[in-house]
Amino acid sequence: MKRLIEVSNVTDVSPPYRNTPIEKLLAYHNLNSPHNDYERAEILVGMCMDHRKKLNIPERFAYIIRDGGGTLINKDFKVSYAVGVGGIKYIALIAHTDCGMVNVSDRKEKFVEGLVNNAGWEREKAIEHFEQCAPLSDIGNEVDFVLRETNRLRELYPQIVIVPLMYKVEDNKLYLIEE
Ligand SMILES: [Zn+2]
Repeated sequence: MKRLIEVSNVTDVSPPYRNTPIEKLLAYHNLNSPHNDYERAEILVGMCMDHRKKLNIPERFAYIIRDGGGTLINKDFKVSYAVGVGGIKYIALIAHTDCGMVNVSDRKEKFVEGLVNNAGWEREKAIEHFEQCAPLSDIGNEVDFVLRETNRLRELYPQIVIVPLMYKVEDNKLYLIEE
């Protein structure tokens, strides 16, 4: 795994992100910084749907788009909305450890059996569903994925500052990723 940069003090925030909503996000979540009042969002956060993660941030501070693996692929219109209408200039893409979408293709049997037993699906339909969708949802390695997604969005929104982060479910902290 590429080097993660711990943020246990505001001085740990890399210089280009000082005094930006990225620093605020890290300070709120990691350092329990007192919550400011916001009238409008300052940042868009893309993160996984995983149930073990909750951001410690003020109300109205952020737009948040959640999906398996934290991908924003196929969500460009919503990102554009946050930029165009919401006026945000910063995006944080948050990958996390122990993500179910890492090598999800290996979980076929559990997925199929669960759909059959829990939802009453026919086995064949569950298999077809998995085989069609799993390759599109599989993010491979979480760090490589979030860096790829960062680069894709930087090309699409060249004036927006886009920062890849890692959420460790082991300690519930956010980490910067050395690029
Ligand atoms: Zn996940």
